[in-house]
Order: sequence, then structure tokens, then C-alpha cells
Amino acid sequence: MLRDIDHFIAGGAHAAGDRTSDVFDPNQGAVQARVRLGTALDLDRAVAAARKAQPAWAATNPQKRARVMFRYKELIEANMDDLAALLSSEHGKVLADSRGDIQRGLEVIEYACGIPQALKGEYTQGAGPGIDVYSMRQPLGIGAGITPFNFPAMIPMWMFGMAIACGNAFILKPSERDPSVPVRLAELMKEAGLPGGILNVVHGDKEMVHAILDHPDIAAVSFVGSSDIAQYIYSRGTANGKRVQAFGGAKNHGIVMPDADLDQVVNDLTGAAFGSAGERCMALPVVVPVGNETAERLREKLIPAIEQLRVGVSSDPDAHYGPVVSKAHKERIESYIQMCVDEGGELVVDGRGFSLQGNEEGFFVGPTFFDHVKPSFRSYREEIFGPVLQMVRAADFEEAVRLPSEHDYGNGVAIFTRNGHAAREFVSRVNVGMVGVNVPIPVPVSYHSFGGWKRSGFGDIGQYGQEGLRFWTKTKVVTQRWPDGSVTGENAFVIPTMG
Ligand code: NAD
Repeated sequence: MLRDIDHFIAGGAHAAGDRTSDVFDPNQGAVQARVRLGTALDLDRAVAAARKAQPAWAATNPQKRARVMFRYKELIEANMDDLAALLSSEHGKVLADSRGDIQRGLEVIEYACGIPQALKGEYTQGAGPGIDVYSMRQPLGIGAGITPFNFPAMIPMWMFGMAIACGNAFILKPSERDPSVPVRLAELMKEAGLPGGILNVVHGDKEMVHAILDHPDIAAVSFVGSSDIAQYIYSRGTANGKRVQAFGGAKNHGIVMPDADLDQVVNDLTGAAFGSAGERCMALPVVVPVGNETAERLREKLIPAIEQLRVGVSSDPDAHYGPVVSKAHKERIESYIQMCVDEGGELVVDGRGFSLQGNEEGFFVGPTFFDHVKPSFRSYREEIFGPVLQMVRAADFEEAVRLPSEHDYGNGVAIFTRNGHAAREFVSRVNVGMVGVNVPIPVPVSYHSFGGWKRSGFGDIGQYGQEGLRFWTKTKVVTQRWPDGSVTGENAFVIPTMG
């Protein structure tokens, strides 16, 4: 009997509907559970629960809301190993990486523990004669999050941690490929003391997504996933009058200057290109050495490092990375490898046909490395999202700035150098949202904000930190005067000024 994964609505399991989707164990390539694919009716139920609970939650003082976040942090820490095992079993990333996935989400919960301080408004006494002006942040009401498979703990926590701490109710539609951890995260929120109806999880595919985008009671939608869908979510959600932030795919470049410490670069690059089987939006799947001499030296060091990578099941503590998420995704990655060969790339290390003894049906792809990739290749312009590293040789620094700047995606980029002037110049000129200087995966800490540019992000406001606060609240500005009873002589027909 397969396990069924139910919706989580109004603080409990909701087991309606016959339509389901298979959830795999990517290590074995076998179905291990079925997730329900909900309909607009299931969403209505979640929205009704959220609408009922939200006013009292918004009226709960921020310090008490923060206490729920404190208890939640303790519960996540106490359940870390179980959550990581569950996450790895559906996603395929290795256990240490699953713990990192949870930890990076938990850091946003830690930020949310400071919500009383973060939510404070501004005040100006005496903005005019007897006039004070102040601002306050109020919750939007009901927010929704639609999340990708690759970070089933971190990205939901980015969204609901902020939304809920700000006083909103939240409806999460996680990826149907690894939905168990998101449900567990909601159950733990209940255990932490969150009232039922404030955090609901509805499962589904595009039918559920459309229902969310069209629901009149959902005020805001946060999306993370691939770019075409992000753009569609942004258009349809905003056309329906919602606030929308929609983050998309990526093709991040690592620029290697001639003076970089190449041993450090090889260490950082192999981790960032192949960790989590390359299924990270902040992976580094493109390396750009500056000058042919740098390229040759780097290539010489990279090849043995890539050949020594250990691919294994996600519970293998010595594995550098595990299987990719699905059979279809494995086939897609392998077709991109063939495309890059056909386009004229030099296939230096070929990861196709990789098989793990005892796990022959698992969705494994070996590490793959291409040299002499050209910016005109489709396999370079598009996101592969697998353990494939492409080397594009740049003649000089100018070309190295131009490549990521002119790419359709603009999520992250990194420069490896010992030259502070070159790094500073690069940081200021590159047309990409998040930049690492000798840092391969520059995901900002939770008290800054995350957001890519160009086709990596639609909308204006980033995730978490100050931008998250702005996204999940609306600012009300009050101008007040308490007259003493004497009527002033101002001309009330002229737009008031402060004198
Ligand atoms: P995806 O776009 O396939 O799915 C994301 C969400 O959209 C899921 O909840 C899914 O159910 C839903 N969805 C899928 N097809 C849909 C459709 N036709 N209509 C409406 N909704 C649909 O993405 P994925 O494969 O789960 O995740 C990988 C992608 O996410 C990669 O492109 C990766 O770069 C991107 N990503 C981006 C960031 C970022 O912050 N920019 C972070 C993580 C992942």
C-alpha cells in the first residue's frame, strides 16, 4: 500500500480528491507515495480557514507572534535529522545538503523572531504646525506561495516565515515532486502554537496554481520555479490585482581571473557546480577563465577533481551528490549534454550512462565537463539544472563582464581573484542581482534579501529580510492633528502645505 500525502488545512489533514501524482524515491527510481492533486474546492476550504483565523492572528501582538517563531526554531532543530532524511528520500540530495536546505530556511525564521523590532513604523513629530506623521505596516490578509522541488524546506520557510510573522495567513502550494517536508513543516508550526488556518498546505499541479492566481481573497503570491512559469504567474497574478514576486531560472557564471588561487577555485567550483547534482538556482554551471593561460591551468586541475567526485545514494555520507529528481529530468539533462556536443563543445568528462551498483534504476547522472563552449550555443543560453559544467573562455576582463551581463538570466555570479580593484569594478558593472567575490554561492543571509534580475526575477521586491517585510505588508501613513478648538485662518481650498 502506497502512502498518501494529504493537504494540511485548518490545522489538520484534508484527504479529499482522487487525482494523485506519484512521488518517487530517486535513489531507487521507484514510486514511494502518492500526493493528492487538489482542485479549486480544496483551495476554497483553505482560504475559508485562513480568512477565519487571520484577523485574530493579525491582532495578536508581534511579540506573541515572535514567540511562536522561537518555539518553531526549537522544534525544527529538534527534528532536523528526521526532516533531512525525509527531504533526501524524495529529493535525492545528500543528507548534509538537506540539513543545509533546512538550516537556510530556519535562518529566516530566526529573522522572524525579531519581528517586533523589524515591523516598527516611522514617526515625525511636528511635521507641520501641530501635525505629526507616522507610518505603520499592516498585513495583507492571505498570502500564497508556490514553490519548486529543489529546496522543499528553505523556500517555503523564506515565504511563510515572513508572511506569518507579519500577521498574514498563508497557503503553500509546494512542488508535487517532494511534498512531504512542506507538510511536516506546517505540522510543526501547529505544534509551536500557531493557530489552525494560519498556515495551510494545498497540493496540486497547474489546476491548483490557476485557482490560486484567480482567487479573489488571496492578496499576494510569491513564486519560485522556472522562468517561463514565473513570467506567466507574474502576468496572471498581477492582472488579477495581486501583489506578485516570481523568481525564475538561472545560469550563473564563475569568473576566474589570472591571479586567482586555482586550488581554492577548483574546490569552490566543483562544490557549486555539482553539489545537489547541480539542481540549485545558485549553482555555478558556467566557468569563465580569463585568458587562455588561465583556462589551461584551470582545466588541468579541474579534470582530476571532477573525475574524483563520488556520486552515491543520498544517505551515503561520503557521496558528494545524489540522484536528480526524476527520470524525465535525467533524460532532459542528458539531451542537453548531447546538444552541447552537437553544437561543437568539447566533451571532456561525460557523465551519461552512469549506473550505481544496486541502484541501477536510480536517477543518477555522472559529473560532466565541457570546454570550448561558445556564447551562441543553445546549451549555454538555457538552464540545464544538472551536474554539467561548461567552460567558456574569455579573452579578457571586458569579455568576462559582458558574458553574464548579456545573458538572459541574472540570478547570481561570482568572481575569483586576489585583485581588489578588478573585483570592485566587476561588482559595480555586472548586470546580475547577486554577486559573490571569492564566494561561489552568494545567497544573501536572512537579514539581507534574495532576488535575481532579468529572466531570473519578475516583480520588484526580493525574498526575506527588509524586502520580505515590504512584500508581506502594506504601509499606511497617518497625518494627524489635534486642534485646540480655535479655527485656523488657512484657506481650506488650497492644497495644504506645511508652511
Ligand atoms: P517548476 O517551474 O517546474 O515548478 C515550480 C512550481 O510551479 C511547482 O509548484 C509546480 O507545481 C508549479 N508548476 C509547474 N508547471 C506549472 C504550470 N504549467 N502552470 C502553473 N504552475 C506550474 O520548477 P521546478 O522544476 O520545481 O524547480 C526548478 C526551477 O526553479 C529551476 O528553473 C530553478 O532555477 C528555479 N529556482 C529558482 C530559484 C530562485 O530563487 N530564482 C530558486 C530555486 C529554484
